[in-house]
Amino acid sequence: MSVISKRILVTGGAGFLGSHLCERLVAAGHDVLCVDNYFTGRRENVAHLIGHPRFEIMRHDVTFPLYVEVDEIYNLACPASPIHYQHDPVQTTKTSVHGAINMLGLAKRLRAKILQASTSEVYGDPQVHPQREGYWGHVNPIGYRSCYDEGKRCAETLFFDYHRQHRLRIKVARIFNTYGPRMHPQDGRVVSNFIMQALAGEPITIYGDGSQTRSFCFVDDLIEGLIRLMETPDEVTGPMNIGNPVEMTIKELAEAVIDLTGSSSKLVHKALPQDDPIQRQPDIGLARSALGWEPQVALRDGLSKTISYFRALREELDAAGRV
Ligand code: NAD
Ligand code: UDP
Ligand code: UDP
Repeated sequence: MSVISKRILVTGGAGFLGSHLCERLVAAGHDVLCVDNYFTGRRENVAHLIGHPRFEIMRHDVTFPLYVEVDEIYNLACPASPIHYQHDPVQTTKTSVHGAINMLGLAKRLRAKILQASTSEVYGDPQVHPQREGYWGHVNPIGYRSCYDEGKRCAETLFFDYHRQHRLRIKVARIFNTYGPRMHPQDGRVVSNFIMQALAGEPITIYGDGSQTRSFCFVDDLIEGLIRLMETPDEVTGPMNIGNPVEMTIKELAEAVIDLTGSSSKLVHKALPQDDPIQRQPDIGLARSALGWEPQVALRDGLSKTISYFRALREELDAAGRV
């Protein structure tokens, strides 16, 4: 099948998800412009694409206007892990809100289609389980996670207002916990923490009693879902949950990591962060019917690939004297 080549902007393209998305879009024959301020992203994540004739990278902060010419925009710029988004919470809100305004303004001038990387965090600490798109959420507006949750909620509002007011073609994906190669080893997210701890033989830090649940999606599945959503007819706007519905407790995840790494690490318990959601599981009925999509990669297979990535990264850092 021949592909019509498009010019596609990926903001946050040097981050974990963004780098996989850039790779997929370049491989599909598109011209990709990756924009990133390198707050949590790294040039190494896209090093293999630099020099490719269809790939371009630009250092830029999306809280400032951006004038480029593209056909489609994937707006992923925003730190995603709690320690990173809480490091400078005002900048986090600005990135979500001013970043959305600028990217929507760009899309409006170009009549370009635009996809927003929203999050399951718009549901907060959900009282409805599993979470469906129609659920309005249970979010603390003034807590430590609010800069991220409320910033993303406001970005969704802006997307739907630009859609209604300016007839913009929008797609809103609510992404649930995703893991895989190129996660930042020190970003404090549970999968990267547990694997790095297990490989180092250090204690595995379970926050609280470990009975809280998450549903983990492998990155390749997630990227496939985002690309399919972008390609839907104009009347499909979302919001649409994209994630893996297989729910597990954090303690079960720790046990799986220990098993797959063969580590002798012990489990230790630490305080549960404030407003940490107790349960999270996507209802992906809408994605199944609208995209014909569902995750293909089982947790143990995805974890094995991620463990191999972190093993190689540790060896690299070791050789460079950085661990
Ligand atoms: P990440 O931190 O690896 O990537 C975010 C990227 O955005 C980084 O490269 C960072 O440098 C860049 N960035 C941050 N602020 C910026 C700014 N002001 N201007 C330009 N670039 C900026 O995180 P990720 O996991 O790849 O997440 C990507 C997107 O997906 C985020 O919007 C996040 O909220 C969303 N998301 C991710 C998950 C997940 O589990 N990974 C879940 C829900 C939503
Ligand atoms: N913008 C941008 N690139 C463009 C067009 C607009 O970054 O190509 C930004 C610009 O900073 C503007 C924002 O997007 O403030 C919102 O644009 P919109 O057209 O909605 O509003 P206005 O220009 O009236 O503020
Ligand atoms: N968590 C944990 N140990 C860690 C890091 C995280 O027990 O070393 C827990 C955290 O409290 C939360 C879950 O794992 O309940 C997922 O955390 P993460 O930061 O990865 O994502 P989010 O809370 O944003 O879903």
